[in-house]
Amino acid sequence: MLNIVLFGPPGAGKGTQSRKIIDKYSLVHISTGDLFRKHTSENSALGQLAKRYMDSGDLVPDDVVISMVEDKIRENLNLNGFIFDGFPRTVNQADALDSMLAKHDLSISGVIALEVPKEELKSRIKARAKTSGRADDQADGEINNRIAVYNNKTAPVAEYYKKQDKFTAVNGVGSVHSIFAFITEKIASF
Ligand code: AMP
Repeated sequence: MLNIVLFGPPGAGKGTQSRKIIDKYSLVHISTGDLFRKHTSENSALGQLAKRYMDSGDLVPDDVVISMVEDKIRENLNLNGFIFDGFPRTVNQADALDSMLAKHDLSISGVIALEVPKEELKSRIKARAKTSGRADDQADGEINNRIAVYNNKTAPVAEYYKKQDKFTAVNGVGSVHSIFAFITEKIASF
């Protein structure tokens, strides 16, 4: 199985590139942000809990995210592999992901980080706000908080995977097509 983590700050293009990766490699997409948005749109108990954190750009507690991902992994074990998008976002989540996969004799094949400068991230999120309808895309305060949360809690996840020799980065600025070409080169080396 090919199990990829697509890593990077909000607005880096993880969703866009994930869709292209899924098409080419037939992987199961596990986007924790998309899963939470589905729950909030259905107004489930999990959705109501997640919304309190999402609207302000804070992270949903690890135990909630981890058990949601564990369910998704268990449901899709007999397919080609997974692309994790927006997960793991803390070192604790990365550790839990390794344990969950190990239970099924699986592991992460490699991590691809999309690198995009902060000012570019903010302008992309603001452009997306016009069509996404996402509360957390709209205001400067929430956008800045999401980027700060990324720097404080999520960026250390890169070190976690560097220690395992599984971390690679690509320049996330350029055409969707050219960035995807860099990603496929990285995947070929996993
Ligand atoms: P995203 O669509 O990946 O930008 O996620 C939107 C929001 O969902 C984040 O700002 C968090 O509030 C929440 N979220 C998504 N993934 C995670 C995660 N792995 N851990 C904690 N919160 C998450």
